[in-house]
Formats: sequence, C-alpha cells, structure tokens
Amino acid sequence: MQRRSWAEPFKIKVVEHLRMTTRAERERAIAGAGYNTFLLPSRDVYIDLLTDSGTSAMSDRQWAGMMMGDEAYAGSENFYHLESAVREFYGYRHLIPTHQGRGAEHILSKCCIKPGDSVPGNMYFTTTRAHQELAGGQFVDVIIDEAHDPASLHPFKGDVDLGKLSALIGRVGPARIPYLALHATVNMAGGQPISMANAREVSALCRRHGIRIFMDATRAVENCWFIREREPGYADRPLADILRELCSYTDGCTMSGKKDCLVNIGGFLAVNDDALAEQARNLVVLFEGLHTYGGLAGRDMEAMAIGIAESVSYDHMHARIGQVQYLAGLLEREGVPMVRPVGGHGVFLDARAFLPQLPREQFPAQALAAALYVDSGVRAMERGAVSAGRDPQTGENRYPRLELVRLTIPRRVYTQAHMDVTAESVAGLYQQRGRIVGLRFTYEPESLRFFQARFAPVEGDAVLRR
Ligand SMILES: *Cc1c(COP(=O)(O)O)cnc(C)c1O
Repeated sequence: MQRRSWAEPFKIKVVEHLRMTTRAERERAIAGAGYNTFLLPSRDVYIDLLTDSGTSAMSDRQWAGMMMGDEAYAGSENFYHLESAVREFYGYRHLIPTHQGRGAEHILSKCCIKPGDSVPGNMYFTTTRAHQELAGGQFVDVIIDEAHDPASLHPFKGDVDLGKLSALIGRVGPARIPYLALHATVNMAGGQPISMANAREVSALCRRHGIRIFMDATRAVENCWFIREREPGYADRPLADILRELCSYTDGCTMSGKKDCLVNIGGFLAVNDDALAEQARNLVVLFEGLHTYGGLAGRDMEAMAIGIAESVSYDHMHARIGQVQYLAGLLEREGVPMVRPVGGHGVFLDARAFLPQLPREQFPAQALAAALYVDSGVRAMERGAVSAGRDPQTGENRYPRLELVRLTIPRRVYTQAHMDVTAESVAGLYQQRGRIVGLRFTYEPESLRFFQARFAPVEGDAVLRR
C-alpha cells in the first residue's frame, strides 16, 4: 500500500531563535540548577518538553483576535464571544472565566465541598486535589487498576471503576459526595483517555444517587480523539459532536485553557445549574475579578474563544496526537521502556525499567531527566518519587508504582526534526544507561518539593559519566 503521511495543517510565519549550548555549558547549568530541570533558566534549554501548559503557539487568527481586545471592566465584547464558544462546543449554559484552571477549581471546590466530604475522581491532579483538600474534602481515587500499570494496554486506562465508586457511595452515602471529578484525559496516568461508554455509565450511576459530575476538561478534545480512534461507533463522527456528547454526561467543567484551548494563559468554570452559577459569580469577583473577565484581559478571552474553535479541528488534532505518537514510535523501535498505550500530550518514560541498576532511593527518574538535559539540552520533567513527596504520617519517602520521566509536547511548537533529536538522545542514553549516576537530596522543601528541590550525584561530580 502506498504510504500516506500526515503533516501539520499550518506553515510557519514567525520563528523564535533558540540558543544552542555545548555539553560543558549544560553540565555547568544542571549543576547550578541542583540537577532539577525546574530550576534551569529557559535560555539554557534547547527543546523544552517540561510541560504542554501555556506553551502552545497561537495562530495568526488568535493573534489578530488579541488586537480585538475590548478592555472594558464590565461586559467586554470578548466575554460574549467566549461565552458563545463554550456554549457551542462544550454545551454548558453558564461561563465564568478564571485566570487559569486552578482558579476554576478553587471556586468550584469552595461552592460545593463541605468539611468531611469525599470527592471521588479518576486519579488525582495536583492542583485539583489541593483545592478539594483546602475546602475540607478528601479525594478518593476511583480509577481502574490498569491505570497504575505502565504495561497494561487497556485502550481507556482513564476509566472510572464503577465498583470502587459504588463502594464509596455505599460507605459514606451520596449526601457526603458533593460531586465526582471526571478527568478527561488523565494527566497523572500518562494522558490516558476515558471512554464514552464509561462516561455514560458513570453519569447514570451518579444521577441515580443525585451526585453531580464536573469534568476536568483541560484535555477533553484530546480525549475525544481517542474515542474516535478506539471506540466503536465514533470513527465517522466530528470531534465537535463527540465533545458535545461527552460534556452532556456532566453538569459542568473546570478548564485550564493553557492546554486544549491553545492559549498561553486563561481558564474557566462552566456549569448548567443556575443557582450554582450565581454562587460562583459571587465568589469569582472576590478571588479572580468581575464575572465577565475573571482575571483575564479581554484579548486573552478572545484568543481563547478562537482557540476553542481551532482545537476541535480534525486536522489539528491529527497532527497534535500524530506528533506525540511519532516520537513514541521512534523510541519504541529502540526498545526504550515507556508507559503504554501512549497518551495524548506526551511520552512517559518508565525510569525504573530504563535504569534498573539505580535503587529508588537514588531517584532514577530525576537522574534520567538531568542526564537527558546534559546530553542534548532537552528538558523533561520527573513524575515519580520526588513528585510524590513524603508520607505526612511516617515521614518516609513515598514510592509510587510509576517512576516516570515526562516528555511533554507543546502544541504547534516543535517540528518532526526536534522529535528526531529528542528520540536520538533518549535512545543513546538507553544504550549507555550504565553511565547515568543516581542522585541524593542536598535541599528538600517541605511542600511540593519537586519544584525547588536540589540534588547532587551520589558519587563523583557528574550525573552522566563520559
Ligand atoms: C494544568 C492542569 C490543571 C490546572 O490548570 P492551570 O491552568 O495550570 O491552573 C488542572 N487539571 C489538569 C488535568 C491539568 O493538566
């Protein structure tokens, strides 16, 4: 059969120059950053795969929209554009803009959660759980077991386990469950999607018990791509239709516009319930800004409204997910261990399988991310024991099953050649994995330690021996 490749549905109009560094410069930079990629100045980074959050390239239409900013304190024209985009593509009635996703999580948690409540979710996300706990709630994980297994090939590893959810309802009673947080896709499991069938069943179960569902819709369009690809009955449906159906099983959403919506800043809370919307508008004015701007400039809302329409384009999402899968394919050919199936927003390397010689106390994922930077200037992120922190009761390090290095792909930013360079560096390190040295803490912050922790090699003075 004749090969038919996909290619980006855009051409490049503006370029941003990157600084190229030598290995000696990178060795100095990573030592100066305490072997923590979060502490590297971005000018020292060549290919930045730290996160896909707020790092997308906007289109010329979005930039044109920035010029259409109506910077009125109240009732900005751009608010109404955003409101109609959310109604059209997500289907929720009320829009409350926020400065980013966690602003929406804060407002929703404060409106709905009472101290002692349980908030089930298909795995946690860092800021989502923090706001649930701040409001006095307790997060309860109800994701299927397969999500915790990097080798399981389940096509919808983000699915909710209905048995776990029913057990929770039986244990605490529906009155102590203000809502279920439904993540689509599941970031902490490696960008794994939920199926439409699961969303439908979860919705039926929750409605039977009068429990609301709020979706973390940060990457819901990416989730819809996987439904289209993998779930019977959706292969010919437009992404916009699939998104509307997915949202129809929920009562509203929190959104970080910095991912699917293709903007550098922005987010929103969207709900159907009139009374809840009223309550949220009363709070947003305290914490974010008036309910028609929520901490955003008019131009930011315009760019997000345009980004939402662009995000559901088949060609856009094909290239987006296609690029992630292209990188994964190159690594797979070299036998590099990673989380399977590959998720929507990046490739998650399995650092325990990559560096079996390093004990977990030497933080293999942290060491691998540092070594990758030294080798090629590619910046990745640790998602393992350092991110998991210590058990508040025992003070011991938590060692989650997943010890990962995340190569996160910004949208519309890098080319296939950047993916080649990244894959060659990772594959080269895998062949020479004996040269990677473990790390120990030299400074350990008390909370969210992964952001500011500092390390040193357990022996010698290099994380990657020559
Ligand atoms: C990024 C993210 C958030 C938080 O959004 P911010 O815009 O960073 O505040 C919430 N949920 C998920 C799944 C995310 O990836």
